[in-house]
Amino acid sequence: MTLITSNINKAIELLDNEDVVAIPTETVYGLAGNIYSDKALKKIYALKKRPSYNPLIVHIKSISDLNLVACEVPNKALKLADAFWPGPLTLILKKQPTISDIVTAGKPTVAVRIPNHPVALELLKKLDYPVAAPSANPFTSISPTTAQHVFDFFDSELKLILEGGSCSKGVESTIVGFKDDEVILYRHGSTSIEAIEKVIGKVKIFTNDDVTPDAPGMLKKHYSPKTRIIISDSIEESMKLHSSKKIGLLLFNTENVGLKVECLEILSKESNLEEAASNLYAALHRLDKCNLDLIIAEKFPNKGQGKTINDRLDRAAN
Ligand code: AMP
Ligand code: MG
Repeated sequence: MTLITSNINKAIELLDNEDVVAIPTETVYGLAGNIYSDKALKKIYALKKRPSYNPLIVHIKSISDLNLVACEVPNKALKLADAFWPGPLTLILKKQPTISDIVTAGKPTVAVRIPNHPVALELLKKLDYPVAAPSANPFTSISPTTAQHVFDFFDSELKLILEGGSCSKGVESTIVGFKDDEVILYRHGSTSIEAIEKVIGKVKIFTNDDVTPDAPGMLKKHYSPKTRIIISDSIEESMKLHSSKKIGLLLFNTENVGLKVECLEILSKESNLEEAASNLYAALHRLDKCNLDLIIAEKFPNKGQGKTINDRLDRAAN
């Protein structure tokens, strides 16, 4: 039986015993394990049914711990860490030899960030080691933004879920890496490109159709509900095309609400893209429970968090 609790000490006990627990972060809930325990790391992959080529993100408590994990940190990386940590920006850096190949999927690099969630930070400060924590969902499914989402995915396979409320950002961290003097965006996320470019100038956007890309967050099919989902520029047209089906709508704001459908999700009544991003996965989880034939999602404005939402919807629809 899985325990959903606010008791951090219980989580520490399990982690110290090389077990895996679910933790809240500001992005999504994660499945955490000691980065120095191969047993815990292997359990993370097994629980998620995650392929071994897909590396994990290391979560540290402070910038001063960065050198435990990474070496040869470029200047631009330090600038970004200063500007955005604790926060939803993951940096891909050269790894320390002490970092296990299980964490990095055999890569010479490691992904690292400081989460900005009071429960996650308190936990990290009480542990003697950083934790690896990928999203607490089975491979390719929708990420969890509440403890209940995690519970629904793993049930008794997981001993403990640390309660931390609804995730304030609600989509994964943005991932960037460094080549020569360039900053490369590997995954859109809850830190916008615009905000990053204000700190270090132009960012290059990585595109790769490979099955084992540099950043597996770039896999074409990812973040998917079980129900078929399509993205539409004209909701009314798409509804006509699929009029015989049981349809659910995923909308940005109240513009199209007059339409008759089985299930309706509006991500931000005020047309605020950050609010929309924070509601995206919870809305997809609910739509997935509506027994629909089809989810029609609106295309979002292509700026700020709208880019991240469109990215996730594209991958969900693939
Ligand atoms: P998540 O399961 O959402 O926490 O995703 C973790 C993601 O971090 C992976 O899917 C990769 O995209 C990315 N990642 C982790 N480590 C590396 C690395 N060394 N190089 C590139 N991407 C990485
Ligand atoms: Mg994930």
